[in-house]
Amino acid sequence: RAKTLGGNRSERYDESLEVQLMRRSMLTAELPGADRRGELDLLYQPIVAVGDRRPVAVEALLRWRHPQLGTVNPEEFVPIAEAAGLIDEIGGWVLHQACRRVATWRADDRPVQVAVNLSAVQLREPDFVAQVAAVLDAYEVPPEALIVEAGEADVVADVPAAVRTLGGLRELGVRVALDDFGTGHSALTYLRRLPVDILKADRALIAEPVSPGAPAAPLAEIVVRLGERLGMSVVAEGVETAEQVAALAAAGCGYAQGYLFGRPMPVEHVEAFFDLHSDGVPRVIGPSTVE
Ligand code: C2E
Ligand code: MG
Ligand code: MG
Ligand code: MG
Repeated sequence: RAKTLGGNRSERYDESLEVQLMRRSMLTAELPGADRRGELDLLYQPIVAVGDRRPVAVEALLRWRHPQLGTVNPEEFVPIAEAAGLIDEIGGWVLHQACRRVATWRADDRPVQVAVNLSAVQLREPDFVAQVAAVLDAYEVPPEALIVEAGEADVVADVPAAVRTLGGLRELGVRVALDDFGTGHSALTYLRRLPVDILKADRALIAEPVSPGAPAAPLAEIVVRLGERLGMSVVAEGVETAEQVAALAAAGCGYAQGYLFGRPMPVEHVEAFFDLHSDGVPRVIGPSTVE
């Protein structure tokens, strides 16, 4: 293979592979204790109501501030944490931080919900529901102030575990969101029996190319109709343009999130965003009462 590629190309390929492997082993070696060393950070991205563009919730998005490598994104280090058996600890840190934060916001008259992303490992954890109950209790967070987001692919990979964990969380009164919905992992088959309150329509559904004269975001519209039929709220992810918002509004989509409204931002910025744009009226995504 080296011969057909030619010596130089092959060498360069080996070098970059080596760099990748070194980076991965460095991250694997240094991830333990990152939470205790203060290297983990949560950014918060607003989720707004499409009707009046007011913020209703914020999604907590994890970053690792590595002392040498700079910011490492969750798509790179969450799989490493899962493989190394560290995701329970890191996920616990995220849950504590997010709940502590939402408790202070609500005490300061910022009636916001916080959304936390779950790993596939947490979904399978038998005592995860009890962990969440304990954290809500510790910070005196009302359960409807917490949204848990489970990825469609993770749910489909183990439907019984997802039903058990998400069902238990929902019984607590926590809101459950199906993340990255519509990315081809076919939760559609299971949707009627999944304990889900919120469909998060993946960015790919919103950003699909539109031919001239064709209706914008037809796939988003289908997700909205589906949500209506199943009694689920819909959040459109990755909204970047005014045209997309107009199409979402026309489709009757309840909520949206994306760079157009606000990027994932540090605590002080998201507080300022909230103070600027909220009317202070408490609202929740998902049913306001749980049967
Ligand atoms: P996600 O939950 O689907 O989060 C949305 C991702 O899209 C975020 O990437 C966000 O920064 C990005 N995004 C938001 N608006 C826009 C937009 O308008 N345009 C574009 N191009 N991108 C947008 P991020 O923060 O890099 O997170 C990536 C994924 O990592 C998340 O996808 C989630 O699956 C996972 N993740 C993040 N935080 C955690 C965590 O605390 N625990 C676990 N287990 N996974 C996490
Ligand atoms: Mg998410
Ligand atoms: Mg998502
Ligand atoms: Mg996504």
